[in-house]
Amino acid sequence: MLLTALALAAAAVGQGPADWHEPFPAHKVIGNVYYVGSKDLATYLITTPEGHILINSGFDRTVPLVQRSVESLGFKMTDVKILLASHAHSDHVAGHARLQKLTGAKVYVMRGDDEVIASGGKGQYLYAADRWDPCKVDRVLKDRDEVKLGGVTLVARLTPGHTRGCTTWTWKVEDGGKKYDVVVIGSPNVNPGFRLVNNKDYPEIADDFAKTFEILKGLPCDVFLGAHGGYYGMVERHALLKKGPGNPFVNPEGYREYVALKERAFRKTLAAQQDEARDVKRNIPYADKADERQVLDVFSPKNAKNLPVVFWIHGGAWQTGDKTDVQIKPQAFMDKGFVFVSTNYRLLPSVDMATIVRDVAKSVRWVHDHIADYGGDPKRLVIMGHSAGAQLAALICTDDRYLKAEGLSLAITKGCVPVDGDTYDVPAIIETAETRWRVHGLPKAKFGHREKLGVTARPL
Ligand SMILES: [Zn+2]
Repeated sequence: MLLTALALAAAAVGQGPADWHEPFPAHKVIGNVYYVGSKDLATYLITTPEGHILINSGFDRTVPLVQRSVESLGFKMTDVKILLASHAHSDHVAGHARLQKLTGAKVYVMRGDDEVIASGGKGQYLYAADRWDPCKVDRVLKDRDEVKLGGVTLVARLTPGHTRGCTTWTWKVEDGGKKYDVVVIGSPNVNPGFRLVNNKDYPEIADDFAKTFEILKGLPCDVFLGAHGGYYGMVERHALLKKGPGNPFVNPEGYREYVALKERAFRKTLAAQQDEARDVKRNIPYADKADERQVLDVFSPKNAKNLPVVFWIHGGAWQTGDKTDVQIKPQAFMDKGFVFVSTNYRLLPSVDMATIVRDVAKSVRWVHDHIADYGGDPKRLVIMGHSAGAQLAALICTDDRYLKAEGLSLAITKGCVPVDGDTYDVPAIIETAETRWRVHGLPKAKFGHREKLGVTARPL
């Protein structure tokens, strides 16, 4: 992770925050897992009877510091057999070539980051000019691949977004007769300058981050670790080591909180960038002397011109609901090349059903007259609605009296999509409901379809 714009610029020349390069006491995390990184650049040593594994090298200048840490614990660098990585950013892998030379270890890298490491930094998203010594990659990994050595099995989880091959390492460790799930998070961070929307260099970046959070939320975790000590409060937890009791690195709640915090940050950045990438106009009145419910919202892709229009009518039994109940629909339709309109209308019982239908027709009239200014084609409307909105959509599209009253014809509607509606055969619905009450001796609904739809005569 690169923390700030300043750190980001500095990282390109191998600098970065001071604690990236400050030595830190090597220490046992749990079982055969040791911390041998700098004060913030995490490097982990996993020891086995057949040799050792290292995760992350840091920068080239971090390597001597890692060496001192490994040796301070009584282990030999030449016993390191496998070198792994969290992700292909300079602060975790620029020292790979040097570390590989020093140890003779084999280098395993997740697909997506392999070419970046092998080429010394080429093909990175965003940090295009950042370079380091190229390092031969001996094995390219895919999601769930296992790395085995001396009875230890590490599982590589592809957690992309931060980089294409960002890797979260998971494995089981034994300590004091108990088994623990260890997780080393690759990075869940949306760095300054990352484009989550309309990213030509990494188009699937937002989907990748979303996948990563699903994976991270599903991992069993007792021992929470990460590519930077800062992810899990390494310095503070290390200080707790001596105080006891218990192991401060066993922190399942901390893991869940951290992942939730980072997912919220991702969602917030994504929403902000999506709003920037589109034009949203809210609460436009569609009638003269409009009631506060006679308003609509328009969502247009940036630079929209002459696009077909989805006109959305919310549900809620004609009594409740709101035009803002659209979830991902505006974005989903914009992505497919539509302008999206979501309308409100006055509700029962303050107005009657015929007035509601006339409100919707008025709203369609506004769209017909003005949507060209918002990049829409007034002659290509698709009328859609959910539940009660489905009934209104079906009525507007099949009974031409309502559009005619607004000086329009059905010809402007190119499609009608009633979603989850059931109110088409009104007499049958009323008869079914009232028969049920009679047969079961139930109290009559005070405000059933008969009252809502203004059907006064008992149907046959
Ligand atoms: Zn990073």
